[in-house]
Amino acid sequence: MDRIVIVGHSIAGVTCGDTLRRRGFDGDLTYVGAEDVPAYPRPSLSKAALHPDPVDIAPLPTFAVATEILGHRAVALEPEAVLLDDGRALPYDGLVIATGSRARRLTDSPREYTLRSLADAEALRARLLERPRVTVIGGGPLGMEVASGAVGLGCEVTLLNPGTPLARHLGPLLGGILASLAAEAGVRILDTVVGSVTETAEGMAVTLPSGEVLESDIVFTGIGDDPEVDWLSSSGLLVDGRLIVDTRQRVLGHPGIVAAGDVCWLDDPAGPRRSPVWTSALEQGRVAADGLLLGDDAPERDHPFYFWTDQWGVSLKVSGTPPREDVAPVVVKGSVDERSFVIHWPGHGAAAALDMRMPVPRLHKLAASRG
Ligand SMILES: Cc1cc2nc3c(=O)[nH]c(=O)nc-3n(C[C@H](O)[C@H](O)[C@H](O)COP(=O)(O)OP(=O)(O)OC[C@H]3O[C@@H](n4cnc5c(N)ncnc54)[C@H](O)[C@@H]3O)c2cc1C
Repeated sequence: MDRIVIVGHSIAGVTCGDTLRRRGFDGDLTYVGAEDVPAYPRPSLSKAALHPDPVDIAPLPTFAVATEILGHRAVALEPEAVLLDDGRALPYDGLVIATGSRARRLTDSPREYTLRSLADAEALRARLLERPRVTVIGGGPLGMEVASGAVGLGCEVTLLNPGTPLARHLGPLLGGILASLAAEAGVRILDTVVGSVTETAEGMAVTLPSGEVLESDIVFTGIGDDPEVDWLSSSGLLVDGRLIVDTRQRVLGHPGIVAAGDVCWLDDPAGPRRSPVWTSALEQGRVAADGLLLGDDAPERDHPFYFWTDQWGVSLKVSGTPPREDVAPVVVKGSVDERSFVIHWPGHGAAAALDMRMPVPRLHKLAASRG
């Protein structure tokens, strides 16, 4: 293999590139990245970037010697070349697809904000500094972090979510604690889905199924993301619109092509699933490099699920998937009532540390323990 093209210059792509070089790949390596900045820690966009004191988001450290084509999109894939938006064709023997995903929107209004890129974060921060009334749609990790940032910047925030925010992701205990912190910080939380969202002369109107209309200056939508696969639509790589990879990140049925990170669906006996979190994208980038170079001899993906969030002045780390039912955890340190603890759920493979220092490997070990 002499020429490898990596499409997507973020954590999955650059980890893959660095790993290829570490493993001794000495051919041509070319990155294509749609953003005009090099890879950066995307999770900071909803944390440090919305902090009252402006914080610079430094580029990720990378060491692979490579050609970087930034500020250009791949627009199509031919059997042996990636086509770019300026008409260039980049030939490849090996291809890494790491184009991530894009935020879902509900309208085309400029008063509806979403958050995926550095440019999105700059626009959102600038608007929040004007202290608009904000309706946040979606109480997942992103909606809650943006609500926290908006409150910190002095905004009045209403958050809409069916059920307890974050409970679907983190279970009722952790979701309940973070929702309480949000309410105590002054967020008005409404347990509801959204009927419709429209732009008005003054701002935005969100109509609820109950008929109630919520007026605000802006809406922030945090209702999930869709993989960036439009450029692959005529490539023959997609199965029902999905880019599915095996346990070595190889695109099923297409030798010489791997994919990593938020863009892909992981083949699984229970059906393809996504794992759109930072450490998973990093791990997938590593596995993809080996999958491309070593094929069947490459190690398989084997990474415990890890997620963290910073909001309402606390930091939460989670290993594994906390039970969705109301299962009492074992408290290892601290106190649940004081919202500062290390806990785990024996038999569920999950552990969490809230507002406590805890090295991630120890959290994984705790999650795996039975007693
Ligand atoms: C605001 C925010 C906060 C987050 N916070 C957390 C968190 O706290 N914890 C956590 O675990 N995870 C978090 N995540 C998720 C995490 O950031 C992602 O899982 C991770 O960034 C995925 O990495 P990736 O390399 O697969 O894709 P991305 O980081 O999305 O990068 C894909 C890159 O490819 C580029 N691209 C797209 N299409 C093309 C194209 N056609 N041609 C060329 N380039 C293209 C994109 O512009 C982008 O630069 C957060 C995500 C966001 C958006």
